[in-house]
Amino acid sequence: MSTSPSPARPPARTSPTTHLPARARLAVATGRAVAGASKLVHFGSGSVIGGRAALLVDRDLLGQLTAGREVLIVSATNGKTTTTRLLVAALGTDRPVVSNSLGANMTPGIVAALGTADPDATAVLEVDERWVAPVLADTHAGTVLLLNLSRDQLDRTQEVRKLAERWHQALAATPPARVVANADDPLVVWAASAAPSVVWVATGQEWTSDAAGCPNCSGRISFEPGSWRCTACDLARPEPDVSVDDTGVILPSGRVDLDLALPGRVNRVNAAFALAAATALGADPQAAAVAAGTVQEVAGRYRVARIGGRDVRLLLAKNPAGWHEAIDMLAPAPAPVVVAINARIADGHDPSWLWDVDYERLAGRVVVATGERRHDLAVRLRYAGVEHETAADITEAVARAAAAPGHEPGSVVDVAANYTAFQEYLELVGGPA
Ligand SMILES: [Zn+2]
Repeated sequence: MSTSPSPARPPARTSPTTHLPARARLAVATGRAVAGASKLVHFGSGSVIGGRAALLVDRDLLGQLTAGREVLIVSATNGKTTTTRLLVAALGTDRPVVSNSLGANMTPGIVAALGTADPDATAVLEVDERWVAPVLADTHAGTVLLLNLSRDQLDRTQEVRKLAERWHQALAATPPARVVANADDPLVVWAASAAPSVVWVATGQEWTSDAAGCPNCSGRISFEPGSWRCTACDLARPEPDVSVDDTGVILPSGRVDLDLALPGRVNRVNAAFALAAATALGADPQAAAVAAGTVQEVAGRYRVARIGGRDVRLLLAKNPAGWHEAIDMLAPAPAPVVVAINARIADGHDPSWLWDVDYERLAGRVVVATGERRHDLAVRLRYAGVEHETAADITEAVARAAAAPGHEPGSVVDVAANYTAFQEYLELVGGPA
């Protein structure tokens, strides 16, 4: 056996993978090569395909990349991307943080994000609600944030009670040191009750239609303002540890002012989750709140951009619970708005959920319906008694809204879109930041 002298180079101590076992290092290198090749042939960023390739080399790569690392998981049907972003800002005030900021929220996307990360950085991971169990088992995350569970993509996503059951089992199998969970969502409360320690957040969630049946006993849940309980077993709203008011967040350590750049009540709640988790890990509440306040857009959501020579603000709403919150964020009536609905694979092919959204709340203004399912939306708006027009594309829709009664010249037109319509418009205005 001959050995060739190796060049006298010092080890690359600055590389984020030198601490890993050889197989994991090979996996990360493979992932990067595949991602690079994929990017070269314009298959998007390549991060997911690179992550898949890396996991073929080392199935335990996520465990290797998170061994000895502080890990936080954020999951929900709605708000997980925004809350993850707010949590990154809050924790980033006093420590290095890595996150899967490209929104690839299953194991391949997560290993792609961590493969290039500082080994000491705290990992804040947005996790698809169906992937909480495997990601928790691999990472042994110390903190898990569970925001809500509701119907999404009717023909694709598992029934919400099944998801709650999987969360429950996952928390029992790999108990994190703390769970931060929504006290106003019975499905989340039941799931989180498997964890040894829970920080309960009062969210004032008004959307209760997906939790009419008790996840514990199948009895009926009785909702009253500010409280809920099962009429057949002892599942009931826990006493909250964290809540929001109009200008701040009340944390276990005291009240902190919060001045968010992001709009809407739901984002103050998302920030409350982020601050609860960040301060539990030792972040200074005031500094964390200030940092959360500076977040202006999240993967293109809330961005103000130009379409057809007019300023528009892009809002994402992809299911009934999401629409319930998005309608609150719109410029007040009589400002006209554009509403865009597609029904592709990523939206779910079945748009019958339109009938579960309280579009009656759009009355008093002109709504311009666009997207591939604009005619389904127009029928829904007609039954809701909402004045509306349809437009074949987004440029025409924005022009119609700007010409409609109630539009203040020069003001921003709100465009609320479901998933693939939102992505299409985001590409039109230059893609994610
Ligand atoms: Zn019950």
